Amino acid sequence: MMDKVDVLVVGSGPAGSVAARYAAKSGASVMMLERRPVVGVPVRCGEFMPSDEEILNMFPKLKDMGSLFDLPEDLHCLETYGIDLIDPNNKETMLEFNGWTTDRDRFDQYLAKLAQEQGADLRMSTAFQKIENGVAVTSAGEIGYKVLIGADGPGSIVARELGLQKNRNPYPAVTAQVKGDFEPYTKMFFGGIAPGAYGWIIPKDGRANVGVGMSPKFANGSLKDYFDKFMDRNGLKAETKVYGKYVPSEGPIPKTVSGNGMVVGDAAGQVISVNGGGIPLAMIAGRICGTVAGENISSGASLQNYETQWRDIMEKPLKLAAFNKKLADTFAFRSDATTKMCMGILGKRRMGNLIRCKRIFP
Ligand SMILES: Cc1cc2nc3c(=O)[nH]c(=O)nc-3n(C[C@H](O)[C@H](O)[C@H](O)COP(=O)(O)OP(=O)(O)OC[C@H]3O[C@@H](n4cnc5c(N)ncnc54)[C@H](O)[C@@H]3O)c2cc1C
Repeated sequence: MMDKVDVLVVGSGPAGSVAARYAAKSGASVMMLERRPVVGVPVRCGEFMPSDEEILNMFPKLKDMGSLFDLPEDLHCLETYGIDLIDPNNKETMLEFNGWTTDRDRFDQYLAKLAQEQGADLRMSTAFQKIENGVAVTSAGEIGYKVLIGADGPGSIVARELGLQKNRNPYPAVTAQVKGDFEPYTKMFFGGIAPGAYGWIIPKDGRANVGVGMSPKFANGSLKDYFDKFMDRNGLKAETKVYGKYVPSEGPIPKTVSGNGMVVGDAAGQVISVNGGGIPLAMIAGRICGTVAGENISSGASLQNYETQWRDIMEKPLKLAAFNKKLADTFAFRSDATTKMCMGILGKRRMGNLIRCKRIFP
């Protein structure tokens, strides 16, 4: 007998778990597939979350954020108060920016548990493969659905199967954990150390998350070489294996709904191009996506409501961030000298705007 559900969610990251929770909350039968054996493992993330105030500053149209981001205290590893931007000559610019750091494995597991508590059925070690005759083909057999949600990350197979555009020019980034005591602010390093992106040290409790992203078009070595150099330069030693993933860099894809399918989170390019941040966005869009899927099942409401609603909140800031990233690619990231010059021209106020998805000029 083939499994049949109202809503099939592919991926148990923040986008998938939040979508599954809200779809299940409306009474729909929901199944969530995850190809990995353990939710959130391994961690492939810098694990930084902006404060609620900073999220609202970026997305002022967001309503009822409390119910989404009111997460247990024990998921907060460290409260941080700033972001220190470091140019190729080690000149530092400290931006006041409140946030907190987490353990992404526990964070993702918590969100998946909320979805299960709401009634979603989580199937681990099950990979979505393709759609055939309106049915999902997975590594564990076929599954029938009324609505399909692709929350399967930056290289989304669901997007491909729905005929939606995949993310273009995603850049690779790697991360690991180190031990030590670090000041409660994030350090971001720019220039040849991480061409086309940045290296980071993000403090946690007695530890830090360290990593490097880079754009292949500016690099002349492997990401592993850059990561090793970054660690040497900062006198750091990885305590864990180094894991990596791709980060969408061009903002949202043009369409996120097709027929009876939707894509959300990284799969939809809902990532801030200038800094790679995507967790809050995946959760915001995940809630809309799951709610709309539930309304579609209960009353036949159009899935296009998802497209309209998430774009109303996030599209403008995300497009601005993508535009600013293109400016950085064109003018700043060509060399250490241009990076340093552009950071100098921008100064603290404009770099603050840049990181918050705002206009940098005038
Ligand atoms: C190195 C790095 C550092 C980052 N640091 C930060 C940060 O500090 N702060 C921040 O806000 N954002 C950060 N991001 C971005 C953030 O991690 C993503 O935006 C976020 O994880 C998006 O959530 P998601 O649910 O859309 O996708 P994901 O978290 O990628 O979840 C997708 C899930 O789908 C599963 N999956 C994929 N394909 C299939 C399939 N075929 N079948 C079944 N399951 C499948 C995957 O295993 C995964 O569990 C970082 C990204 C990287 C790569």
